[in-house]
Amino acid sequence: MNEQQRKQASQIKQGNPADVKSDSDANLDRLKNMDSDEMIGKYFQTTYEPPNLKKAKKRLKKDVDIHYDFSIPKEMQSIGDGKKFLIRTYGCQMNEHDTEVMAGLLTDMGYQLTDDTKQADVILLNTCAIRENAENKVFGEIGHLKPLKLENPDLIIGVCGCMSQEEAVVNRILKKHPFIDMIFGTHNIHRLPSLLKEAMFSKEMVVEVWSKEGDIIENLPKVRKGRIKGWVNIMYGCDKFCTYCIVPYTRGKERSRLPEDIIQEVRHLAAQGYQEITLLGQNVNAYGKDLDFEYGLGDLMDEIRKIDIPRVRFTTSHPRDFDDRLIEVLAKGGNLLDHIHLPVQSGSSAVLRVMARRYTRESYLELVSKIRKAMPNATLTTDIIVGFPNETDEQFEETMTLVKEVGFESAYTFIYSPREGTPAARWEDNIPMEVKKERLQRLNALVNEQAKQAMEKYEGEIVKVLVEGESKKNPDVLSGYTERSKLVNFRAPKSLIGKIVDVKITKAKTWSLDGELAEQTAGVL
Ligand code: SAM
Ligand code: SF4
Repeated sequence: MNEQQRKQASQIKQGNPADVKSDSDANLDRLKNMDSDEMIGKYFQTTYEPPNLKKAKKRLKKDVDIHYDFSIPKEMQSIGDGKKFLIRTYGCQMNEHDTEVMAGLLTDMGYQLTDDTKQADVILLNTCAIRENAENKVFGEIGHLKPLKLENPDLIIGVCGCMSQEEAVVNRILKKHPFIDMIFGTHNIHRLPSLLKEAMFSKEMVVEVWSKEGDIIENLPKVRKGRIKGWVNIMYGCDKFCTYCIVPYTRGKERSRLPEDIIQEVRHLAAQGYQEITLLGQNVNAYGKDLDFEYGLGDLMDEIRKIDIPRVRFTTSHPRDFDDRLIEVLAKGGNLLDHIHLPVQSGSSAVLRVMARRYTRESYLELVSKIRKAMPNATLTTDIIVGFPNETDEQFEETMTLVKEVGFESAYTFIYSPREGTPAARWEDNIPMEVKKERLQRLNALVNEQAKQAMEKYEGEIVKVLVEGESKKNPDVLSGYTERSKLVNFRAPKSLIGKIVDVKITKAKTWSLDGELAEQTAGVL
């Protein structure tokens, strides 16, 4: 829906309640009489513009608008008093952080958090579209929520996040899950208070998905998960258009927050006692490219390293944009940690070319060696896709040899999943699923072996651990992460939660380390 359509629609919905009712009844009648996706799409185009992948691919040169004037409409400021909300989050850190913003908005409207669906007055599903199984999980959850809605018709259920930016998903929900009250896109999060109001007072499903390239809305409230580690968005969107990936369509164009806004947020977190921040973006190395002054991620990190916050991470890097300035700044160390997540996707230059990654196996290895030269102890981790359309055995073997050559200490590995609207989804694929699964198993076995070897090096060493809380498996054990993102479990007083302590590693496992408080820490307790 464009701005003008939105105004028109909201004028209709804010009219007198009788009008709203008859409007909604008419909508429902018309919906009942439709029997195809095409018809539904056609009808809804009269009231909103569905997400359009082709259009999204055309990036406009228009400057990004930054808004500093966000506020919750007066009539919504206490609408949630005495009520509760629950948000289910799927997917990446970006979504986790969006959930913190939505939790902030709902809290400012008076709602309180619950983790019990039966107690919730508002349930939001913050969805991920990156692979088909992520979407299947969400549709499964939507099915589970139906009985709750039947039991409690006042319950508001909303679907948001990346899936709502997909036309096919919106149409499927409209057609098959009419009990959903609202669908809103990644560009519409700040509109949550108004959308909630529409959903409460209108009987029709509220759908607001802007296919726009996106603005930046500053000053949104946030309820952060925990007070030890915090996420800070430095940019939004992605312009890389890797041929398999849905993100550039669901998240809009690359747009950087102003350095001063980011630095202010980091300072604020430091003042509140946060011990670690992670700078977030789909392609953080493109940070600053859209600003009208010369400034990049290296420059930003160089300023952030001077802020009194013990640990600074960033994710996700794109090898193409990882420049020398950033390497030079990271090598200064201090609070800038030397764990670099550098998704490679494939070890074959031919596959990388059809993925449109814009680097080759050779240039990736060159980058790795530059990083290692500047930061000899850096830990490298990655993302890999196996079974890209028509990937040959030889090309897959190139991925295996690259994993060995770089010595990745862990990797997120995926079987390629076709995403509607992306170029790769249209290509014929002659690799059987069995072959893809077998490749994934072989790759995982190699990654596990390397992860184990990397862990073994820590036996007998003293490492710095940011203590995050009780271990998930045993409340008598504390757990936290080292500077290089290794999970450590050890017994110690709970008073250490939130602190960085020295731990002596006693045993290495594949994905975690066991340890005990180092003598110097134990001695001062
Ligand atoms: N922006 C990051 C980058 O360029 O590496 C990653 C973003 S994406 C949320 C995380 C990972 O999901 C990607 O690195 C890729 O390995 C994987 N991925 C993305 N699209 C995929 C698809 N269609 N099928 C399988 N895996 C996919
Ligand atoms: Fe997707 Fe990352 Fe490629 Fe952007 S850079 S299209 S987010 S894989």
